[in-house]
Amino acid sequence: MTFRRLPLALVFVLLAAGPAQADDLADAIAADYESHLEDLFVHFHRNPELSFRETKTAARLAEELRGVGIEVTEGVGGTGIVGMLRNGEGPLVMVRADMDGLPVAEQSGLEYASTARQVDITGEEVPVMHACGHDVHMTSLVGTARRLVERKDSWNGTVMFIGQPAEERIGGAKAMLEAATSP
Ligand SMILES: [Zn+2]
Repeated sequence: MTFRRLPLALVFVLLAAGPAQADDLADAIAADYESHLEDLFVHFHRNPELSFRETKTAARLAEELRGVGIEVTEGVGGTGIVGMLRNGEGPLVMVRADMDGLPVAEQSGLEYASTARQVDITGEEVPVMHACGHDVHMTSLVGTARRLVERKDSWNGTVMFIGQPAEERIGGAKAMLEAATSP
């Protein structure tokens, strides 16, 4: 891996750390990318799902967050997930990732290119690809969660991790908000 390929959210975590800690954190992120996150990215890239059809994607994201001790609620507004990492008194910060792919046939020639097809909400079968980078969003979310859990002694407050459905078709955020505010 190269530093260039570090997901953006992880770079924010890096910037939030002090100068001495930043090296440690960069090393930890690089090591995690090597041992876990790159495979996860490839998994998401190979297995895209359409808007409001992100069931396996959401399940994997939930599993990844639960795996590091985060409390996860699934099925929020359809396929949305909410993870809570509580670490004492302090601010509540939300980190979110989109989960859906696009009805696009991948022609990248990559070894891990998507060959997925899925029936969309109108009943038509279409090719599916993470052509908007939501595979990167989700990998960044998991990487951020893993580092925040590992470094719980250096921050306090609560982090809410959102896996949001249907960003591409619009409506996923609204569905999650409605689910969260309905009795
Ligand atoms: Zn998008």
